[in-house]
Amino acid sequence: MKIFCGRANPTTGSMEWLEEGEDYDYHQEIARSRYADMLHDKDRNVKYYQGIRAAVSRVKERGEKAIVLDIGTGTGLLSMMAASAGADFCYAIEVFKPMANAAVKIVEKNGFSDKIKVINKHSTEVTVGPDGDMQCRANILVTELFDTELIGEGALPTYEHAHKYLVQEGCEAVPHRATVYAQLVESRRMWSWKKLFPVHVEAEDGEKILIPPSEMENCPGVPSVCDIQLNQMPSSDFSTLSDVVTMFSVDFSKPVQSASTYYRVQLEPVKSGKAQIVLSWWDIDMDPSGMINCTMAPYWVKPTSALQWRDHWMQCVYFLPREEPVLQGEKLYLTACRDEYSVWYNLQKAREGENNAGEEEHKADVCVESPVCRCRAHLLWNRPRFGELNDQNRTRRYIESLRKVLKTDSVCLCISDGSLLPVLAHYLGAKQVQCMQPSRTDLYHPHELWQAFFKANHLEDKIKIIEARPELLKPSHLEDKKISVLVGEPFFTTSLLPWHNLYFWYARTAVSTHLASNVTVLPQSASLHMMIVEFQDLWRIWSPCGICEGFDVQTMDDMIKNSLNFRESKEAEPHPLWEYPCRSLSEPEEVLTFDFTKPVPQHCLSTEGSVKLLRKGKSHGAVLWMEYHLAADISVSTGLMQLSNEKGNCEWNPHCKQAVYFFSSIIESEILSDPTAVTYAINFDTKTGEIAMDFKL
Ligand code: SAH
Repeated sequence: MKIFCGRANPTTGSMEWLEEGEDYDYHQEIARSRYADMLHDKDRNVKYYQGIRAAVSRVKERGEKAIVLDIGTGTGLLSMMAASAGADFCYAIEVFKPMANAAVKIVEKNGFSDKIKVINKHSTEVTVGPDGDMQCRANILVTELFDTELIGEGALPTYEHAHKYLVQEGCEAVPHRATVYAQLVESRRMWSWKKLFPVHVEAEDGEKILIPPSEMENCPGVPSVCDIQLNQMPSSDFSTLSDVVTMFSVDFSKPVQSASTYYRVQLEPVKSGKAQIVLSWWDIDMDPSGMINCTMAPYWVKPTSALQWRDHWMQCVYFLPREEPVLQGEKLYLTACRDEYSVWYNLQKAREGENNAGEEEHKADVCVESPVCRCRAHLLWNRPRFGELNDQNRTRRYIESLRKVLKTDSVCLCISDGSLLPVLAHYLGAKQVQCMQPSRTDLYHPHELWQAFFKANHLEDKIKIIEARPELLKPSHLEDKKISVLVGEPFFTTSLLPWHNLYFWYARTAVSTHLASNVTVLPQSASLHMMIVEFQDLWRIWSPCGICEGFDVQTMDDMIKNSLNFRESKEAEPHPLWEYPCRSLSEPEEVLTFDFTKPVPQHCLSTEGSVKLLRKGKSHGAVLWMEYHLAADISVSTGLMQLSNEKGNCEWNPHCKQAVYFFSSIIESEILSDPTAVTYAINFDTKTGEIAMDFKL
C-alpha cells in the first residue's frame, strides 16, 4: 500500500504530495500520539487505579462477577489495573491496529493473557453473545476517551453506543462522571487571537489608523478548539469577571445522549469589564462519591494543590462571538452549546425584571449553530497569527524599518501571506505598492478578504494584489516598473518549522529579473539561532516510562522509539515554547545566516561547531529559531526574546513555534569549571529548503 502525505515544499511554498511507504502513517501516528505523556501522568494513573479498585469492590460486594469493558485500551493499562484489582474478565477494545498488537504483547508480558481479551475493533463494531466478541454484557465500563475539550475524541457517541449494546443497566463506570467548568474573563492578550485591533501608523502627513472591516468585528470565528497550557498564562494577562461556574456534567454510568444540546447557567459578574473570553476545563470523578477527583483546573482555581503537568489534557479558550461590556452584579446567562464533538459559548444579558419564567423566551436567542467564520479573516489568519499581527511592538519595528528604506518614488512588492506590510508601506509614502497573494491552498482565495479590508480603509485603488506565484510574475503586473523595495515579514501559512519561511528567499530569487539594480530587500538577511535547553516538562512526551503503576509498558517505549527513529535523520518538531518552560544550558548561538540581498546559492549552507554547557542541568535537546534583520539595527526574533542570566530562564516569542530537536540520550552537566561541550553539524540544503542536524554529546 502507498500513502501520499501532503507537505509544503519550502522552496516553492506550495503543497506537494509525497509518496511514503505503508509504515509511514503508523509511525507518524505513534510518534505524534500522546501515549508517553499519558503514561507519565501519575495523577491520572493513580486515580484511575483507585477508581477501578473501588468499582471492582462494589460489584464484588453485590456478589456479582466483575466483567470489565475497557474502550480504547491503548497499552492495556486500565484493563491490567482492573485484572489486578480482582476483575474476573476484561474485554479490552482498541481500534488502532498497532496499538492493539502492542496491548496483546504488554498484557502477555505482564501475565494477564487469561484475564484480558484484546479486541482490535472500534467499539461500535463489537458484538455480544455466545459467538460474539464478548460473551456477555459488562458490568464495569472503563474508558479514557477524553481530550482537552472532553468530547472532541468522540466520547459521547461511544458511551451512547456502549450503554445501548455493550454494558448492563446499572453498570459501574470509571470515571463515574465528568464536569465541565467555565469562567468569564477579559483579556487583551487572548482577545488579540480572535480579532484584529486597529493599527496606528505615524505617517508624514499625520496619523493613519488601519481598521478591520465591520464583518470581522462580529464574526464568530472558527469552531476548532483553542487548547493551551493555561498554567503558562500569567495572571497579569487576564482579569476574571466571574466565579468559576459548572456548565454541565455527564454521568457515565447511565445512558448517555450525544445529540446536540445546550446548557445555560445564570451568573453575576464579580467585576465590571469587557466579557471576551470563556476559559474552560473539566474534571472527572472516578467514583460516585466524588472522593477520587482528577482535575484540569488551572493554578488560580486550586492554588494549594500540586499541579500535574500534562499535555494530553490542557485547558480551553473560547471566544465569545462579540465583546460584551458587563457590570458587576448584573444578571447574565452563559450558554454552552455542544454537538457530538465540540463546544462553543454564548453570553446573554437577562432582561429587566426577568426571572426563570423568561427561560423559554431565551431559548430562541441561543445560538445553537456552531461558529462559522463569515469574514474570511479567520480562514486566512489562525489564532497565533492574529496575535502576531496585533503585536504592536513587532509592528513598530516593521514601521521603523520601512520608514528607513522607503522613498516617495519607491516601487514596493510584498511577499508574505496575509501581511499588513503593503498597507504600512502605502501609509509610509511608497509610490506604488503591490503584494503577491497566490492562493496557496485550493480551498481558499484571500482576494475577497483583501477587497473588504481595502474598502474599509479607502485603499481600493492604492494597493494591487497580484494573484500569481513569484516565478510567474510579469512586467505587466508591475506596470513595467522595476521593484525598488522588496519586503516580507516573512510569513507563509504553509510553514511548519521556523526556517520554512525562508521561502521568502526562494521567492526573491524567482523575481530577481524584476528587481532594480539598487533594490532594497527587507529583511536584508535572516539568521538561524540555536541553544541547548533543559525542559521543565516537555521531555515527558518522548521519554520512556518503563514501569507504569507496577505494569511493564516497555513494549510501548520501544514502539515510540522505533517510530521516532523511522526517518533516517531525526527531525526537529515545532512547539510553541511560551507554553513549555525551559532553561538554557548554553548561550544562544547564531549558527547560519541567509543573505536576502543575493539569490539562493546553488550549494548547501552548512556549519559545524560546539557549544559549551554553562549551567548545571539535563540537556534534553536543542531549540532553533530564526531572526530577521529588517534594517540597519532593527531585528525581530521568532524565538528567544529574553534570557534571565542567573538561572537561564527563557522568554519566547508568544506567537511563533520554535523548532525542538530532542536528543536521543540526555546528558547531565555538572561541573561548571570544565564545561561539557556539545558538537553539532547543521546543514541547510538549498535544493529542498530543509535543515538537517546532528548533535554529539
Ligand atoms: N486506555 C489507555 C489509552 C487511552 S488513549 C490509557 O488510559 O492509557 C485512547 C485510545 O482509545 C486510543 O488508543 C484510541 O485509538 C482508542 N479509541 C478511541 N475511541 C475508540 C473506540 N470507540 N473504540 C475503540 N478504540 C477507541
